[in-house]
Amino acid sequence: MSTEFVEGWEMLHTLGEGAFGEVKLLLNKVSGDAVAMKIVDLVKNANVTTSIKKEIAIHKKLNHPHIIKVYGNRKEQGVEYIFLEYASGGELFDRIEPDIGMKPQDAQKYFRHLISGVEYLHSLGIVHRDIKPENLLLDEHDNLKITDFGMATIFRMNGKDRMLDKQCGTLPYVAPEVLSGKQYHGEPADIWSCGVVLVAMLGGELPWDSPTNHCEDYVSWKECGITKQPWCKIENLALSILRRILNHSPPRRYKVSEIKQHQWFTKQFKDQGTPVKLPGTPLKKKIKLNRDSTGREEAILACSQPVHCDRTNQNHCDELQDRTSIGKKQVGLCSFSQPTNPEHMLLTSQCLGTQTQSGSNQTPLHRLVKRMTRCIMNTDFDKTRKELERLLDLFGYTWRECPQGTFTISCKDIRKMDLTFKANAMSLNGVSVLLDFRLSHGCGIDFKRHFLKIRGKLKPFISEVPMTWSLADATNTIP
Ligand code: AMP
Repeated sequence: MSTEFVEGWEMLHTLGEGAFGEVKLLLNKVSGDAVAMKIVDLVKNANVTTSIKKEIAIHKKLNHPHIIKVYGNRKEQGVEYIFLEYASGGELFDRIEPDIGMKPQDAQKYFRHLISGVEYLHSLGIVHRDIKPENLLLDEHDNLKITDFGMATIFRMNGKDRMLDKQCGTLPYVAPEVLSGKQYHGEPADIWSCGVVLVAMLGGELPWDSPTNHCEDYVSWKECGITKQPWCKIENLALSILRRILNHSPPRRYKVSEIKQHQWFTKQFKDQGTPVKLPGTPLKKKIKLNRDSTGREEAILACSQPVHCDRTNQNHCDELQDRTSIGKKQVGLCSFSQPTNPEHMLLTSQCLGTQTQSGSNQTPLHRLVKRMTRCIMNTDFDKTRKELERLLDLFGYTWRECPQGTFTISCKDIRKMDLTFKANAMSLNGVSVLLDFRLSHGCGIDFKRHFLKIRGKLKPFISEVPMTWSLADATNTIP
């Protein structure tokens, strides 16, 4: 559904779902700039009001190439809007081939980015506490960016470390000491999660359900090392760094400085990894970056009413009064400096207003998201829906279709945890259909398994179009 969110800014499709609301793509109709907007309904989720405040406060302190930037936020009629740097490359789990992983050189690149972001966080005394591929996004240049600071907290104040006690995170990624019920140090807990992410990247599966003595896979790693999957898929040098990161004992676990010196981390691969085909050629930045007195790049924040701003943004909040309205509402928005493609605009003007057969105004701007979990069908809208319905029944999924063309599909994942994902059919030109799958809740890697299973059966109806395609390809399909 494409609607004007505030004057000049179009609210496009949902990019993803978080624990307390959706993240939508906003596009500036004139400049072509894109912003991700996280929406948290504080009326429905009254218990998260304080934690959202904390999340925003922590996130606003951060300015690093491997961390999603926050441009500003606004509370409006019980809804918190958080404006974030848009990562068009999708989520890291999307690059992980279930049970296979990815090329080690790609894993090394992403792991270096991750460690760089985590090192920065820890240098500020902040611990993330929910590092997992679903919270690691990719930008248009394939740079990894850490996001979702909902579990983050401060572990060092005025040079003094404090122990943490809140048990939080996602079970397969969480460090054993976090689950122990005792106090734990923040830094080693994040390092552990980075190790599990590395296993997922190299082996395409998670090593255990949770790092407890009830979990056979974990006990076997702790006691015998590399006897089973996924370890036997991973080469020795990578295993060597993993052994040191996934060390049960937090004081003996590798620190960031040690990780950075390990041979696997520093090693130069002959082949430099997979070049990523981007949905358009990145051009130079159209809006100049503002620099603060320290030379730090910062976003220009224009706001109509008091917006919670950090000190670096405060001047802009005072200076740039940009009143835009939805009906009677006055809403502050961010003008920002993320590089965008003029092609985005071309695409915008061509496709904003493109009607799907379901009557909604969804736009082929989906193409701007480099998501692998999608396919182009050579069947029309109704035939695609019918075929998908048949398959969902065949595979025994619980599903519903609402509105027409949008399927919410539920099942249990490999660990018997709830998994929900959405499939969205969008008519491109009356003949072909873009079928876009997106994770709602649960394990990203297992979601990808289900996608591949469904895609396998859809094969006879899939057009031979690359999963990521250039704008030239894309515009060809626009009527
Ligand atoms: P979160 O609420 O932060 O957990 O975000 C939920 C999902 O929305 C993520 O897993 C991403 O798929 C998507 N998402 C969040 N932030 C962004 C962003 N800045 N750019 C693109 N997609 C995002």
